[in-house]
Amino acid sequence: MLSPGDDFSDEPGPRDACGVFGVWAPGEDVAKLTYFGLYALQHRGQESAGMAVSNGERIMVFKDMGLVSQVFNEATLNSLKGHLAVGHCRYSTTGASTWSNAQPTFRGTETGGMALAHNGNLTNTDELETWLAGKIAESDVPRKNRMDSTSDTALVSALLSVYSGDGLRSAAMQVLPRLDGAFCLVFSNEKTLFAARDPQGIHPLVLGRLEHGWVVASETAALDIIGATLIREVEPGELIWIDEAGLNSTRFAEADPKGCLFEYVYLARPDTLISGRRVHAARVEIGRTLALECPADADLVIPTPESGTPSAIGYAEASGIPFGLGLVKNSYVGRTFIQPSQTIRQLGIRLKLNPIRDVIEGKRLVVVDDSIVRGNTQRALVKMLREAGAAEVHVRISSPPVQWPCFYGIDFATRAELIAPGLSTDEICRSIGADSLGYISLEGLTASTGVSGRRLCRACFDGNYPVPIPADRAEQMGLEQKFGC
Ligand code: SF4
Repeated sequence: MLSPGDDFSDEPGPRDACGVFGVWAPGEDVAKLTYFGLYALQHRGQESAGMAVSNGERIMVFKDMGLVSQVFNEATLNSLKGHLAVGHCRYSTTGASTWSNAQPTFRGTETGGMALAHNGNLTNTDELETWLAGKIAESDVPRKNRMDSTSDTALVSALLSVYSGDGLRSAAMQVLPRLDGAFCLVFSNEKTLFAARDPQGIHPLVLGRLEHGWVVASETAALDIIGATLIREVEPGELIWIDEAGLNSTRFAEADPKGCLFEYVYLARPDTLISGRRVHAARVEIGRTLALECPADADLVIPTPESGTPSAIGYAEASGIPFGLGLVKNSYVGRTFIQPSQTIRQLGIRLKLNPIRDVIEGKRLVVVDDSIVRGNTQRALVKMLREAGAAEVHVRISSPPVQWPCFYGIDFATRAELIAPGLSTDEICRSIGADSLGYISLEGLTASTGVSGRRLCRACFDGNYPVPIPADRAEQMGLEQKFGC
């Protein structure tokens, strides 16, 4: 699978909802810390980026469409002075990809301003909209506290705003227990930084320490890049707030951990720690298990760079087949706003991956990739490797077949677009033109992460959604019976 947000191929990879970052550090250049934190989280969202910085009196927000490095420059960052900041990089899974849906959101409250950044997708937005409408109707809430954009994040902002009479912490304790789905929230008023994680802890959120401050971020890699020390994960169902009195914490819901299994497969950076385990180490182990479950008679194991690399290393180790780099990725083909011409578009996958003919020619290859969503990328890849002289191409996938869509913030495809439902592995193998195809089992993948299956969301593989999904979507897919698993 190629990188999230790549847009030259006919099949973009699964896209994460967002990366969130927050820092409370008087005396530090919080705008620059946030910039580099977001830079480390760029893989989680590439459509827009933004930050809100407070100097204790006033919150300033700067956001725009594009990559972190395109949105901010030295002059912009120098103009954002303060002691706390909230940052965000976005890929839209609800709401359009427009400036008004870029984050952090900002809105007035009864006690000041509020900036908010969100990673994840809520599943009960209809219910929340009804709640908000009722609250507005029964009170003298100003019109400005209504929704001003189309995302579920705007809905959370509006709810926090209408309940802000006794301050933002009180509002959070009233609103957070009623949110269903996946949410890692980082938000602030002028003086205090808040962070909250859904009771299932579906996506990661961690707390770090600077010498003179605190940091929260989607992944530990963002702490590393700014020299912060990991303290712990923000617990599922926990609200923390940081101000001059230091770090404080309370629970708004009982924890019922269901961490996203796909973070281990593809979403998180390999240098990130999840549940105390380095993602790279988990992926190498996944590759070892894959080799045991799906052996191949071959001369060389190559990864689809870069997400397939750790599992290819593990596959090579366990199988005894040499590891090699047979494909070069152009790391600089990220998201772009320049539309490729038809001629360029036809090159498709070659814009991102180029085979090294001398390595591949005459070889029986095992190609390790992280997932198959629609199958278009793998079809193009197999064809390209054969054209480069591969004698055989055996595709090995470090996740089970993706059978169901995600409702918690990862945009795969609709069920109708997925290749796995309705086709056997042999049929998919023929469809992509490989000599053989093997997927790791769900049990093998789960065991390789070191986390109990009871503490994971695996819904895109088995259809057992840990948080009920919207009724109309469940009905369409015949999923009612799966609730509560
Ligand atoms: S459905 Fe899949 S991608 Fe979505 S949260 Fe669950 S494991 Fe992750």
